[in-house]
Parts: sequence; C-alpha cells; structure tokens
Amino acid sequence: MSDGQLNVKVYSAGELVAAFEAFDAVSQGTADMYHSADYYWIGKSPAWAFFCAVPFGMTFTEINAWIYHGGGQELWDELGAKFNIKPFLAGNTGVQMGGWFNKEINSTEDYKGLKIRMPGLGGEVLREIGAAAVNLPGGEIAPALQSGAIDATEWVGPWNDLAFGFYKFAKYYYYPGFHEPGTANDLGVNKDFYESLPKHQQRIVEAAAAMENVYQNAEFNAHDSSSLTTLTGKHKVQVRKFSPDVLNAIGEASGRVMNRVGNSDPLTAKVYKSFLESRKDSIGWAKLADQAYWEARLLPFKYGQ
Ligand code: CA
Repeated sequence: MSDGQLNVKVYSAGELVAAFEAFDAVSQGTADMYHSADYYWIGKSPAWAFFCAVPFGMTFTEINAWIYHGGGQELWDELGAKFNIKPFLAGNTGVQMGGWFNKEINSTEDYKGLKIRMPGLGGEVLREIGAAAVNLPGGEIAPALQSGAIDATEWVGPWNDLAFGFYKFAKYYYYPGFHEPGTANDLGVNKDFYESLPKHQQRIVEAAAAMENVYQNAEFNAHDSSSLTTLTGKHKVQVRKFSPDVLNAIGEASGRVMNRVGNSDPLTAKVYKSFLESRKDSIGWAKLADQAYWEARLLPFKYGQ
C-alpha cells in the first residue's frame, strides 16, 4: 500500500518477546506494533477487555458499530494513550466455540474445580461459578491439555481448534462461546512511532487495519464450517450445546463480574457505560434485523433443494 515507504517485519510469539510481553514491548518501543487480543492486557487495566471480547458482549458487526461510529475508538484512544499505544481493530474471529471438555457439562456444578484455560473476563466469570480458570498463550494449550495440567480449554473455533489438535485430548466440543461472541484482534501501535509518521502513512496503517478487520473475519467464516465437518466426521468429536439453564446461570455470573470489574476505576467505568449503551442499542436493532432474519431463514421452507 505504501509503495515501499512502510515495511513491516513480523515476529512470532517468542522470537522478539514472549506472547504476553507484546504489550510492554510496544508500549516501551522495543517493537513498533503488536497484533493480539486486547483482553490479554486486563492486568494493565480491565478496560482493555471491552475492545476485544467480554462475556455476553457484542458480535463482530456490533463491536464495529461501537468502535467506528459509537464513540468506542475515542475511548480506546484515551485508554491507549495512558500506555503510549494507538489501537485499531484488525481482525475478528466471529462467535467463538464454548470450549473442549473431557466430560459433559450439564449444570454449573460441572464447572466446580474444573481447570480450564479461558482468558479475559470469561475466565473471571468461570472463577465466579467455581472453576479454576487459567490463562495460557495459544502455543501452550495443547501440551497442558495432554498432560492433564488443565481439564478443559477454549481457543477460538473449529478452524483454529482443529489445527491445534484439541480433539485428541477432549471429546466434547461445546457451543456457543458466550465468553467471546465476536473477539476483536487488535493492532496496537507505539503512539510515538505512529505520530512520527507523515499523515498519509498514518492513514495507510489505519486502512490496512480496517481491511484486515474484514478480511480476517471472512477467513474465519470460510474455514470454520468445513473444519467442523472434519472434527465431527473424521475425528468423531461430540458437539454439545450449553443448556439454557447453564447459559442463564453463567449470564447472571457475567452480570455480577461485569458490574464489579466495569466500575473498578473511573476510565474503565466510562468505557463500561459506553459499551453498555451500545450493547443495548445493538440488541434492540438485532431483534428486528439479524436475529429475526436468522430465525426466518431456518423456517422449514424448501430452498435450493
Ligand atoms: Ca478464545
């Protein structure tokens, strides 16, 4: 896009710094940018989670509406400035799966003492109902599941989960991923570096991130369905839906956690308030738009058969 003016050299987790050190590396200028999921930084401020994914939060199109047109970007910029980071949306997984379990989950009792990998506020919610939730970077999950260090895990959805081979160590694959209903992947740019760029190069970074936001979501949608077929057909994975009772109980726990965490400091409270308003608007409109259409599409009429 820049005709050679901007060149990006990409390092994997562990090459320049470890996965969870990406934030400090960019904040301090060891690296110019990270591509990550901002809920990994809730130890810096819980507000970061809202720009990535929170339990029973917003979907891909809804978070886009908030960030691009609902005041979300301005709040994110305010948060980022405290850490010398200029943030952008740069990818979205869509609704994730609920996770891999080696036993059925029939009530929230089944979460008691369960050692499960779940990052962000989703982990906080599962701790609220008695699970022993831990966070691990992607590359460490499968070995932990294999060794029994964890009993269960979530990662993303069929495409990414198939690649990591979780089906070898846990056979029940639950949905929906209430904890990550449209996880944003985020580009964090060192703010000093970003502001040192000429305006047109800043616009190039912004446009590239926006393009990746759409492109990556399309990539997930294109691959998740076929990967699910491979998991259930070839690998005999048992797909299970969380019961309404389980989801409602986790929703109640989510509400308590969100109110606690969302009001933990003035800036987080400001972000939380804006998020809640946007979420409410999204739910109201989705009832008449996306949700109503998805239900209509599943009526038993014949189409293309
Ligand atoms: Ca996930």
